[in-house]
Amino acid sequence: MIFYVSLLLSLAVALDAACPEIVNRAEWGARNGMSRALAVPVRHVFIHHTSGATCNSRDTCSKVVRQTQNYFIDSKKWADIGYNFLVGGDGRIYEGRGWKVVGAHTYGYNSDSIGIAFMGYFEQEKPSAAMMDAAKELIECGVENNFISANYQIHGHRDAKCTSCPGEALYNIIEFWPRFVRGKLPEFNC
Ligand SMILES: [Zn+2]
Repeated sequence: MIFYVSLLLSLAVALDAACPEIVNRAEWGARNGMSRALAVPVRHVFIHHTSGATCNSRDTCSKVVRQTQNYFIDSKKWADIGYNFLVGGDGRIYEGRGWKVVGAHTYGYNSDSIGIAFMGYFEQEKPSAAMMDAAKELIECGVENNFISANYQIHGHRDAKCTSCPGEALYNIIEFWPRFVRGKLPEFNC
């Protein structure tokens, strides 16, 4: 019995180990948003940048995420922050709409994808290794927990729309990630 309990405990730890630290909505001080359930597992992952401020601590990143949510709700008049998750310059993941809610980040693909936004502007500047690692861990965590299909495809936002997002420097990195699919998608729109 003790053997099985410790086996279960170590399995739980192993599963947990695949997931990065995720600062949830309550922790960063989110406003309530409307939500529509996402059918999982999704087949696509889209990488974005916010084109906004960077940050380097839990406090400053939480503040920037709050500002980003305010911009989406107050200026764009959207129901909530558009991304499913954001990656802070502090190497932490910030929960946007999360795993279970349809995002608003990639037209034509929101109902079958998770949108991950790197906080900052990555046209010339590269994100830090900590940001890269956190994003990769988040994707692994999504696959482990069946929110993302095991044979998912990863793309940059620019593969689905005429936008520079997620920035040239970041795009040039993710194109070497496993399961990256280069080129325009069927629902590409301008
Ligand atoms: Zn984008």
